[in-house]
Amino acid sequence: MGITSMGILGRSRGTRGRSASMGLPGWESELRIELRAVTAQLVGLLTGAQAGVPVLPWPLATLCYHRVVGSCNGEKASMTARILDGTKIRDQVFTDLTAEIQRLAARGVRPGLAAVLVGENPASQLYVKSKIAACEQLGLASWMHTPPASITTDELLRLVDKLNADDAVDGILIQLPLPSQVDTKRVLEAVDPAKDVDGFHPVNLGRLVSGRPGLVACTPAGCMEILRRAEIKIEGANAVVLGRSDIVGKPMALLLMHANATVTICHSKTRDLPDVVRRADIVVAAMGKAGYVAADWIRPGAAVIDVGTNKVTDAKEAERLLRNFPARLEKFRAKGSVLIGDVHPDAVNIAGALTPVPGGVGPMTITMLMSNTVKAARLRREKIDAQPTPAAAGAR
Ligand code: NAP
Repeated sequence: MGITSMGILGRSRGTRGRSASMGLPGWESELRIELRAVTAQLVGLLTGAQAGVPVLPWPLATLCYHRVVGSCNGEKASMTARILDGTKIRDQVFTDLTAEIQRLAARGVRPGLAAVLVGENPASQLYVKSKIAACEQLGLASWMHTPPASITTDELLRLVDKLNADDAVDGILIQLPLPSQVDTKRVLEAVDPAKDVDGFHPVNLGRLVSGRPGLVACTPAGCMEILRRAEIKIEGANAVVLGRSDIVGKPMALLLMHANATVTICHSKTRDLPDVVRRADIVVAAMGKAGYVAADWIRPGAAVIDVGTNKVTDAKEAERLLRNFPARLEKFRAKGSVLIGDVHPDAVNIAGALTPVPGGVGPMTITMLMSNTVKAARLRREKIDAQPTPAAAGAR
């Protein structure tokens, strides 16, 4: 069956991107299913997709793949990629965390997160509310401090000092952005690194650089958790990180490097971006540009972690991005907006595995905040427990 089907496929006139808008006669749907299975097999054979490490040079693999997929011209979206569902992975992490929280409870420890929400920015209010809700779901203690938007840097520094000194507080979260009159850097650097559950403090960044244990920024830590739990091979893989921000791109690249990937970091001045991306077994896109990474930049079988969360409100833009996803386009028309990642949605036809937007990396950010809070509680207690008692210290 494979050879016959491949014969059919070999006659295809298809070229990349043609699948989009053509209708599919009913009789072809059976053939389509078969073609999809054969395509998956063939792409797997050609690219070693299951292992996440292609064995053919990418142009050849891409060519073969597109010749195969070109036969399915009527497809709206063939959905070949394994969807890396962030909500499912969040549930797995929460289950693990629950066990650890119980172990801490047995020692009389209840991890606690203090959130500082300055002013009344609706988006920030929503984020903090979700974080507090996650604490409640897991049984962590939580506090919300809501100083007015007129707060000064010194007043905020005093609040941070108070939280640093409070032993019940294991994690301090300063919701960004802060008002323009506040020195954000000074405030973030005032947080005790042992309570820096956002992983933004230079001490924690330094620990990450040197591969020492510490608190790691939540979004990149969440991306790593997705890769690990989905059993995507990182060691030896070519990983391309698009974006070099302090909170996503840089820590992501370091985490991948420590996991023994060969990492390329790209930014707005990178030349020949499509070619660089095409060499990647793992692509992490964190640029903040809706659908910027074209589907044909993705190496067949590659794992794609799409960090971008872009709200698209322009109808033409939505149609360009969602032409192969009529149901999503319909929803956009009803709602007037849609969330799109940095990777074009059509990449689902080429990637081996891919995080959806929404529902991929998004849920993992709060998940890792919870994980960091529990970790901070454990590490702080271990440090306190390891300190000699005054009597023992005196005896030395
Ligand atoms: P950011 O600080 O604006 O950084 C964007 C990075 O992308 C910069 O390094 C920039 O390069 C690079 N870039 C921009 N245009 C580029 C281009 N044409 N080619 C190559 N690189 C380009 O953004 P961020 O805070 O890292 O966030 C990135 C995205 O992730 C945003 O969409 C954000 O909403 C999303 N995000 C999602 C979550 C989540 O929980 N899902 C969490 C955090 C962020 P330069 O350095 O040269 O300017």
